[in-house]
Amino acid sequence: MNELSAGRHAGALNDAMSRAVSSPGVPVVTSVGNASDSIESLPLKAIHELPDFFYVKDRAGRFLFANATTARSLGYSDASELAGKSDFDLYDFETAQRYFEIEQAMMASGEPLIDMEEITPSLIGEGAACRLTSKIPLRNDRGEIIGLIGASRDITERKRQEELRRRQAELLEMIARNEPLETVLEALVLLVEAEIDGVSGSVLLLDSDGQRLRHGAAPHLPGAYTRIIDGIAIGPKVGSCGTAAWRAAPVVVEDALGDPLWEEFRSVVEAFGFRSCWSTPILTAQRNVLGTFALYSNTVRAPTTRETELVAIATHLAGIAIERRRGDERIHFMAHHDDLTGLPNRAFFKERMAKTLHQARAASRKVTVAYIDVNDFKGINDTLGHAAGDEVLKEVAARMANCVRASDMVVRLGGDEFVVVLVHQSSHDIGITRRLRDLQKAISKPVQFKGREIPISCSIGVAAFPNDGATADELLLNADRAMYGAKQQGLQTPLHHYSTHDAATELPLTDQEELRLAIVRDQLLLHYQPQVDVITRKVTGVEALVRWEHPQKGMRPPAEFIPLAEECGLIIPLGLWVLNEACRQAREWQAMGLPPVRIAVNVSARQFTDPDFARHVTETAERHKLDLHWLELELTESVLMQDAERALAMMDALRPLGVRFSIDDFGAGYSSLASLKTFPFDRLKMDRSLIEALPSDKTAVAIGLAVISLAQTLKLSVVAEGVETDAQLEFLSFARCEEAQGYRFSKPVPADRIPALLKA
Ligand code: C2E
Ligand code: CA
Ligand code: CA
Repeated sequence: MNELSAGRHAGALNDAMSRAVSSPGVPVVTSVGNASDSIESLPLKAIHELPDFFYVKDRAGRFLFANATTARSLGYSDASELAGKSDFDLYDFETAQRYFEIEQAMMASGEPLIDMEEITPSLIGEGAACRLTSKIPLRNDRGEIIGLIGASRDITERKRQEELRRRQAELLEMIARNEPLETVLEALVLLVEAEIDGVSGSVLLLDSDGQRLRHGAAPHLPGAYTRIIDGIAIGPKVGSCGTAAWRAAPVVVEDALGDPLWEEFRSVVEAFGFRSCWSTPILTAQRNVLGTFALYSNTVRAPTTRETELVAIATHLAGIAIERRRGDERIHFMAHHDDLTGLPNRAFFKERMAKTLHQARAASRKVTVAYIDVNDFKGINDTLGHAAGDEVLKEVAARMANCVRASDMVVRLGGDEFVVVLVHQSSHDIGITRRLRDLQKAISKPVQFKGREIPISCSIGVAAFPNDGATADELLLNADRAMYGAKQQGLQTPLHHYSTHDAATELPLTDQEELRLAIVRDQLLLHYQPQVDVITRKVTGVEALVRWEHPQKGMRPPAEFIPLAEECGLIIPLGLWVLNEACRQAREWQAMGLPPVRIAVNVSARQFTDPDFARHVTETAERHKLDLHWLELELTESVLMQDAERALAMMDALRPLGVRFSIDDFGAGYSSLASLKTFPFDRLKMDRSLIEALPSDKTAVAIGLAVISLAQTLKLSVVAEGVETDAQLEFLSFARCEEAQGYRFSKPVPADRIPALLKA
């Protein structure tokens, strides 16, 4: 080192710069006062060529020297103009002050600062830059610090690349975690939008028919626009995306208003103010089109190279995500279907039956399960070989599939055993027996194999929901037993599971009779459970809950007789009784001068599909002179599932009269977002099962918060059911749930206990 000592050797300092500083050709800076002299005497050429920033400052922070790169970044074309200027002449005060303090501290301590990452505001119209900077004390020959040497490198691009790689890795992780495709695609669009100024991204997915593009993700495009393009056909002249999918090549439209590809959509882009739209097809490894990735912007322009590269990365990732999902669908299909016959298998049966039975229960419909076994299949296999056996199974499967309706299901359980599930279309589907006979007849015809005729017959055993079993397993077991009986007896007709000797199934008959009498003999009564404002603790409403005062068995809860009433149709008169009694009682409380509260009445699916229901409601309210604003009807999702159109019509008829609707038991199994959006509810009742686990269970907390914020988004008020503890209440108040109902406040109580609660 010569006299111009750069302090301790700074290993991390850019090599070129260290050389430039410490090379023997560099003269000693002896006099700080004569700044311009020393700058001019430096062999500057090489230093000015450096892409990095290099400068020398005096003790007061004034530039003694700066290379061309530094000068350019500060808005000067001639580096010598910087001499004598300080950061205060160049940057805003705050920035200059920051630099000044750092440099003064460094010079005071004599400790060089090596490789600091710093954000530098731009003085020439670009975004802020990220720099890796080193500052080193400059000493004179007596070792006194007379200034500093600064060297920095712009690492903005490197940082950007790192960030991009990190976000790419995150996306790949999302894909690996099997997050829903919509979520992954949305994250992908957001990634690109964050990197490119002024664009909105959109992913469209090619339909399975390969003809149309469907909405995939477009978090920042207007909803109205995405709805317009959802389902557009692909073709040689269909905007940027339709054309890109058609050509399987990128389409860059710089100005949609003038481009012939957009001719037919001109009014649409005009309305939304889009100008450029660059679309890139998302391709499989075999170059099959999976969809498109498009960027819209309101300015007329083409993508830069960097932007094109970024889009290429994004489409590649989108391709991985889409292919991954397709793979999953394929695996799911394979896991649920039988290779030989293509029929669904036992796993599928179980999954589907749970749903079928749930719907049947809600709609009081029967479901028939027929267990079918090919007679002497083993004999066919043994004497004619496996190929013949396979042919028989395939043929029999096809015959069964041809016999059933779309709502039914044919399943191969394994071997030569099949199940056919028939969903009854009405409560009195007398056609079922005939359909089973037809099924048996269709199966029992010879199968042709290599010029031979193989005679076929089968045994069928039948069990029906709900009488012969409540679950898929029970039904299967009983149908299997019946099939075994049929086989033993060599029957050529389906044999039904005989349950007449089963005492349990005899009971409902008498129960049904009893219940019928209970309604006319006035054995029913209503209890009421208050609903309370979480904040004020005032009673805002009561829910009417029916009870049956049984002459022998005492007070029976609704769970013991409502399902029966639904099954046998008694729910209609029972429901009318409840509605009438609730309205009468509500009016009576009002007449007593109590603060009026809402009265909530539970409505079953069967009641709601009664075409006269709306009329019953209005007549009942009129009869008791109760303003319908005080009536709230609680519906469960099963009510809506049964006949959505009619349910919607019924709600539309009653809402203008003031009747409010709440969705009951939300969060208990089958609640769906779709029904919340489709049906005009006023309130959401969070199911007890959700509240039960609060607040200790993290999942319950997450679901609870999600449900409440969902309700707020949809402008529904929320009532929590089954609130039993202070801790639950505290959580609800924290989560801004408006109302609560549960033992914490009161069990359902007889009518005469309510006035005291309303006054409290
Ligand atoms: P739901 O509509 O969900 O009614 C709430 C049930 O939760 C009531 O049971 C109530 O007693 C109970 N409950 C309330 N707070 C708490 C609590 O803090 N902890 C616990 N463990 N339970 C609480 P209930 O009265 O036995 O009614 C059961 C179901 O019967 C009702 O469920 C409803 O679906 C049905 N139901 C009751 N009355 C009628 C009616 O008039 N018509 C129809 N269609 N169904 C009714
Ligand atoms: Ca309810
Ligand atoms: Ca409920």
